[in-house]
Amino acid sequence: MRALIVSDIHSNLEALEAVIADANERGGFDTVWCLGDSVGYGPDPEACLDLLRSFPLVAVAGNHDRAALDVRESADFNNAAAFAADWTARRLGQDYREFLGGLPEVTRAGEFTLVHGSLRSPLREYLLNEEAAASTFGRLTTSYCLVGHSHMPFLCLENREGPLFVQFTEDEVFPLDPRRWIANPGSVGQPRDYDPRPSYALFIKDVGDPAGTLERHRVEYDRAATQEKMRQAGLPQSLIDRLNYGV
Ligand code: ZN
Repeated sequence: MRALIVSDIHSNLEALEAVIADANERGGFDTVWCLGDSVGYGPDPEACLDLLRSFPLVAVAGNHDRAALDVRESADFNNAAAFAADWTARRLGQDYREFLGGLPEVTRAGEFTLVHGSLRSPLREYLLNEEAAASTFGRLTTSYCLVGHSHMPFLCLENREGPLFVQFTEDEVFPLDPRRWIANPGSVGQPRDYDPRPSYALFIKDVGDPAGTLERHRVEYDRAATQEKMRQAGLPQSLIDRLNYGV
């Protein structure tokens, strides 16, 4: 069993294609687990949803997915994000709106619970500190939880002394043990950890393997092509520029 774990694709088709190609080179995947914010910011909302939906898919909604359907959901967005949400909303056909509208806030895939933000606040909370992690562990009914939203890759282990954040080091294999974990694979389409390369994770569980492993990888992609599309679409310059820096 091999799952490709992606989050915060944000309508960046070149980034998503590069991630899928890289995952295929590493042995492929049977299913895609998507942690939300598939649209918003970038120039290819429908094409990203088409590509995602061409695979067996388990997905949850992100705040940008909701904002593309209802302008009230972008009330707390900055100007550039709100502009992009409105731009996205005007480009999504009915089928795509129905798909996004049907996404749950929380779902389950085997021993994993999938949510965009946190189990305390599925669409809004950035799970980045021990208090937030403890709150999600308190609500978690499976062994593992996958989150996105912050665009910051991390692993967090449930420890006797409290949640322990550890580096989700690139290209390292993390065996999942009986303890409980929260993982963020980082962002495919708009990384914010000062590395502009798309980030994603793989969950791999072989027959007879009790828990399986998680690993995280990064890829190069044709950033200039995405940025040129954004320019032609009239999307804000700040959103184009930030892709250069991973912020
Ligand atoms: Zn996001």
